[in-house]
Amino acid sequence: MAGELILVVEDEPQIADTLERYLRAQGFRTERAADGERALEVWQVARPDLVLLDLMLPRLDGLEVLKRIRQRDRTPVIVITARAEEVDRVLGLELGADDYVVKPFSPREVVARIRAVLRRAQGLVRPASHLQAGALEVDLEALRARCQGQELSLTPTQVRLLYLLMARVGKVVSRQELLDGLETEADERTVDAHVKNLRARLGPCAALLETVRGYGYRLREGLGEG
Ligand code: CA
Repeated sequence: MAGELILVVEDEPQIADTLERYLRAQGFRTERAADGERALEVWQVARPDLVLLDLMLPRLDGLEVLKRIRQRDRTPVIVITARAEEVDRVLGLELGADDYVVKPFSPREVVARIRAVLRRAQGLVRPASHLQAGALEVDLEALRARCQGQELSLTPTQVRLLYLLMARVGKVVSRQELLDGLETEADERTVDAHVKNLRARLGPCAALLETVRGYGYRLREGLGEG
């Protein structure tokens, strides 16, 4: 299943870049808008699963964007604000945001809130923590993984790494994206070390994990029965 589509509405390119990179590393798809009018256009066309909405925006401010979205439907909206005093109004009946984060925030906190709001919006308790790709299966919540039905003995970090690769199966994932996804401040060499250890524990599925020299890693789908 493809990841949920998050519309990132933020006029500061660095913050938007960080958020998009982080969200993608977590398996979400993203669209971006750098001003309020564009946000409404993209919202109408792309029909995102959730809108991450900065309040201070050029052309049309975030409060107005929120109001107009709410006049039309119940798309989940998480507001990003630098002004904690706006929070009551934003969450109130008049505007009806689903949640908020106050700047400065960590991408990790934002993702946690996105997941919580999406779960509520979808009325399910089960997050998309279970992935299958070819012979591999991973369950992020249970911290378990299997290759061809055989339980693998992995550390939590290795499970997480495998999950990040499986969420983008068939595509190259850069070391930086893996670092972001692991939510660690460590450097890219650490990622290489983690991947090396992971590969050593994947059994027959190790053959599916390819190194893309100088860039990152790719997990192939395969090793069906046999
Ligand atoms: Ca702004």
